[in-house]
Amino acid sequence: MYRTHHCGELRLSDLDKTVTLSGWASVIRDKGSLLWIDLRDRYGITQLVFDEAYTDAALFDIARSIGREFVLQATGTVIERTSKTTKIETGEIEIKVTEMRVLNASKTPPFTIQDDTDGGDELRLKYRYLDLRRNAVQKNLIFRSNLAIETRKYLAAQGFIEVETPNLIKSTPEGARDFVVPSRMNKGQFYALPQSPQTFKQILMVAGFDKYFQIVKCFRDEDLRADRQPEFTQIDCEMSFVHQEDILNTFEGLTKSLFKSTLGVDLPDFPRMTYDEAFIRFGSDKPDLRFGMEFVNLSDVAKGKGFPVFDGAETILAICAPGCAGYSRKQLDELTEWLKRPQIGAKGLVYVKMEADGSIKSSVDKFYSPEDLKVWTDRAGAQTGDLLLVLCGEDEKTHKQLNELRLEMGTRLDLRKGDDFKPLWVVDFPLLEWDEDANRFFAMHHPFTSPKPGDIVKMESDDKALLKSIRADAYDLVLNGVEIGGGSIRIHDRDLQSRNFKLLGFTPEEAEAQFGFLLGAFEYGAPPHGGIAFGFDRLSAVMNGAGSIRDFIAFPKNNQGRDMMIDAPSGIKAEQLKELGIDVVGE
Ligand code: ASP
Repeated sequence: MYRTHHCGELRLSDLDKTVTLSGWASVIRDKGSLLWIDLRDRYGITQLVFDEAYTDAALFDIARSIGREFVLQATGTVIERTSKTTKIETGEIEIKVTEMRVLNASKTPPFTIQDDTDGGDELRLKYRYLDLRRNAVQKNLIFRSNLAIETRKYLAAQGFIEVETPNLIKSTPEGARDFVVPSRMNKGQFYALPQSPQTFKQILMVAGFDKYFQIVKCFRDEDLRADRQPEFTQIDCEMSFVHQEDILNTFEGLTKSLFKSTLGVDLPDFPRMTYDEAFIRFGSDKPDLRFGMEFVNLSDVAKGKGFPVFDGAETILAICAPGCAGYSRKQLDELTEWLKRPQIGAKGLVYVKMEADGSIKSSVDKFYSPEDLKVWTDRAGAQTGDLLLVLCGEDEKTHKQLNELRLEMGTRLDLRKGDDFKPLWVVDFPLLEWDEDANRFFAMHHPFTSPKPGDIVKMESDDKALLKSIRADAYDLVLNGVEIGGGSIRIHDRDLQSRNFKLLGFTPEEAEAQFGFLLGAFEYGAPPHGGIAFGFDRLSAVMNGAGSIRDFIAFPKNNQGRDMMIDAPSGIKAEQLKELGIDVVGE
């Protein structure tokens, strides 16, 4: 028997018991006549003690030969510690070792296996098996496992059926590039890895499954931004005979239940905001509601006073940064430079300070009287000590830039706490999005999303503005400024689906070639249906106040999309390529 207990288990109540533990040597302290080894496994750490006063000399020699990460099996007696610690759960006891075996030796690891490791990102990814031994990383994956189990329990209790859909499918345009897999048996042809099971889950509704879910891998060949992975996991769901309201209620229920069961947190009812409102108030379709600083539009009161920059601007918007009137010239210059970086692209920053002595000072005093400025600060609800930050320019750009500034100020003022949860539903997304470069409309969510019934008539129009104004039964679940989930009510009528494909620039032949199976299915009694998908990695991260989804994925890829541990992607042999009917190029 390798062990009688695990390393997180023994307490004072176990005193005098003879026990056997197995695990990895973590911290080793050698004080000459006394030696301690912290033995670690998934469950915790237990201190082993060796004392020249009573430890057999041969055993003491073994203890001295132990290095970090050796795998050990130790037998001994549970004794009370003289110097107790509350840092670990077993901190009141230690094991007076009488026998020890080295089950396996270890090279000195390239970084310390501790919560605060000295290993850089790339090194930790290369030796992921060592990184995964760290408590901090294990904790995340255990959380993820609980979250998956609780998701299954909740959805199963609601009558959802888990169905697996294929990974080798056909290329479908859903916004990103597909990963493709060559087919050996059908030379020159390719499968695509699914960006999501979207069409399959709709087909399952046509088949009468009524409520489907799947915790499923999705693949998108995108340029990797900081918090993206080429393969990621969704909680993917679809329901029949539902309106938007039914979906929102069901998945608000799931989210609340997950918070309760995994974190013990009770979430209040989720507020709802339309896409338009979110844009006007926060300049974003995923507003972080953990703090205020809502946008204030000053266009009507700031124009016409002789300040040419404002007079020539489409929009003038402000936010009020609480308690920031004391910002120095240097701080304001630095903030201005931050805004002017190409990533944000603002032209400049105007500020108004509500000084402690009641006076108002601004960077545009030349053009505006204190009375003029008071109109602005009143509108923003600014108090003594507050700082108004004002941006101007084209309407859409200025909203986006001020959103960045708002988030940055929220971070600087420490208003975005990881354990404060502010969910909301953003609803009524536009159906279509105009792409200037491509000179055509794209689906804002995906091509299967249904317009709101009242807006269907607008689909017949050629008027771009009218088409842009079509609203969809599409919604996002947003949590702390992060899009956690998104979905829509789907089109279930063949003609309407064809009409939508046409708006998106598909010829009837192209639509038939790509989605003929779905259009065909719609001719055999497709029920009204809709669904949603949650980003599972992201949900795990946000629930833990963590910035990166990588910490919640067992084997993530790096920023170049590489798996550093197995060294993938890699070349393949010429014979393999030949077998696949792919011409060998290069080298
Ligand atoms: N398939 C969609 C996505 O991956 C989610 C949905 O509409 O249910 O974003």
